[in-house]
Amino acid sequence: MPPRKKLLRLLALVLGFVALIAAASLLAYRFSLAMGLAELQVTGRHRLDLYATSLEREIDKYAYFSTTLGLERDVMQLLATPRPAQAAQVNQYLEQLNERAGTLAIYVMDGQGTVVATSNWRRPDSYLGEDLSFRPYFRQALESGSGRIFGIGTTRGEPGYYLASSLTSAQGTVGVAVVKVGLQQLEKSWATAEAPVLVADENGVAILSSVPDWKFTTLRPLDAATRSAFDHTQQYNRRALKPLGVVELAALEHGARLVSLPKLGPEMVSMFPVAGKFLAQTQPLPGTPWNITVFSLQEQVRGIAANRAAVAGVGAAFLCILALMFNERRRHVKDRLAAREALQQAHDELERNVAERTADLSAANTHLQVEVLERTRAERTLRAAQDELVQAGKLAVIGQLSSGIAHELNQPLAALRTLSGNARKFLDRGDPQTAGSNLERIAELVDRMGRLTGQLKSFARKSSGRPQAVPLRRAVDNALFLLEQRLKRAGVVPCIDLTEGDLQAWCDANRLEQVLVNLAGNALDAMEGQGAPALDITARRQGDRMVLQVRDRGPGLSQDAQTHLFEPFFTTKDAGSGLGLGLAISAGIVADAGGSLRAQNHADGGAIFTLDLPAAPEGTPR
Ligand code: ADP
Repeated sequence: MPPRKKLLRLLALVLGFVALIAAASLLAYRFSLAMGLAELQVTGRHRLDLYATSLEREIDKYAYFSTTLGLERDVMQLLATPRPAQAAQVNQYLEQLNERAGTLAIYVMDGQGTVVATSNWRRPDSYLGEDLSFRPYFRQALESGSGRIFGIGTTRGEPGYYLASSLTSAQGTVGVAVVKVGLQQLEKSWATAEAPVLVADENGVAILSSVPDWKFTTLRPLDAATRSAFDHTQQYNRRALKPLGVVELAALEHGARLVSLPKLGPEMVSMFPVAGKFLAQTQPLPGTPWNITVFSLQEQVRGIAANRAAVAGVGAAFLCILALMFNERRRHVKDRLAAREALQQAHDELERNVAERTADLSAANTHLQVEVLERTRAERTLRAAQDELVQAGKLAVIGQLSSGIAHELNQPLAALRTLSGNARKFLDRGDPQTAGSNLERIAELVDRMGRLTGQLKSFARKSSGRPQAVPLRRAVDNALFLLEQRLKRAGVVPCIDLTEGDLQAWCDANRLEQVLVNLAGNALDAMEGQGAPALDITARRQGDRMVLQVRDRGPGLSQDAQTHLFEPFFTTKDAGSGLGLGLAISAGIVADAGGSLRAQNHADGGAIFTLDLPAAPEGTPR
């Protein structure tokens, strides 16, 4: 792979891994956050239930007071017929009750809303005699039997929860009993609250809260009409109602919201933070038009989610490394498999090649065998033909020699006739001595004739062709003996130089003689009619070879003769005197014996034939 491509691949891989790790972290964060928020919701709901219930219990406890006042005879009598003594008695009673209950005030109004008895009758700003009919709880109590409202007292500006109950006699509703509960008392139930909690009234004004700064803030904007209504009822006693500044970030299921709370005062209240991001859960407070809201801090959940995201990121990175390692291993295994496969393929290919070659070889072998067989057969045929040729050559030589031989035999025969005739005459004359010498001469002539015919017989005989140690001297002598008459006629005395001791060639004696007869015969033919004929036969040993040369003083070899000398039927001789087979047969005989026959012209004239034959191994018996 080119380095650029490799780099790009690496970059893509790194980017891929980074994306994977980021995705895993993000997923883990989201999942963990969702899980955390779900858990937080459960916790928040528990808190909400807990705070709501405890507040409800607290309110119910005080509500009970106003209801029970209807059972008080003194109170009812006072309402029926107001008398100062009765009023003082009820005032004292209410004072004691208020003190015991720890409430802000307990008072009784007549049917018109005028306070007829009150727990704070001693104080200068006592409600006694005040007309509080404008208060909404009064109306509510008259209308529905009970009235509950949060409000800030007009006299002392003290915020509190007014719990009003109508007081009824046989004549109907005769008055209204009211208990004003201070906020601290209600909030007592939240003493152990672990999260910011607030109670908003029907106007969205935070009337109770575990965070002091949140009190009298608004959760939602108030329109002008509502604000002017507050002026009339003096519900909040002209308190500046600032917005809490809750920013809703997201709405979750079951009415939960993700909100952000601004920092209004100290960041921590009762060990829990009051600013930042929170999960807000709200539910109505039973028996009131209020809503209670609990804020659970999200920070922790986010922290856990971030931790889990980090763990997921590390896990993803680990997985990436594992995947890389696995991929590396897989590639390694793949490479090994590929190498093994390639090896197997190469092996198979090799085997196939070997099989093909073997098949080729065996085919070639068969072909060769067939060829060898054919060649052997051809050679056999050739050899047979050659043998026939050799024989033919011999017979040709004999043919050539026959006139000489006839002459050779005729002469002794004539001499024999004369000698035998004379011997008889000498015996008749009584001269046995001369007759005896004649008979001796006859015997000599017969021996000579016998030798000649013997030579001829041995020459004409088909030889075995088996090589053996052949003394060169004897072969030369035998050949020249056959040509004796021709030599004589030509007046040639062969000059034989075989000085180097006992020279022996390794060949067939009969065939060597045939070659020598041929060479010497050709030399004599070439020198016919020459002034100074001469025939030199020399031999010497050259290593394990025998080199024998036959040189004449004839005209030498023509260009044509040099080219075609050893070809069968090449002859320059007249028809009847030459067949052109002599040298071809001689060369064949010499080659068969593992030698060679060459011809060249001598620098001083005449042709020179060189016969090269293997020397007989040392110590070979003749
Ligand atoms: P042939 O003697 O029947 O012609 P050879 O094969 O013996 O057949 O000789 C072939 C020819 O080679 C001869 O006809 C002759 O022309 C030439 N030749 C052979 N020996 C000699 C020689 N010694 N000098 C010149 N020519 C020769």
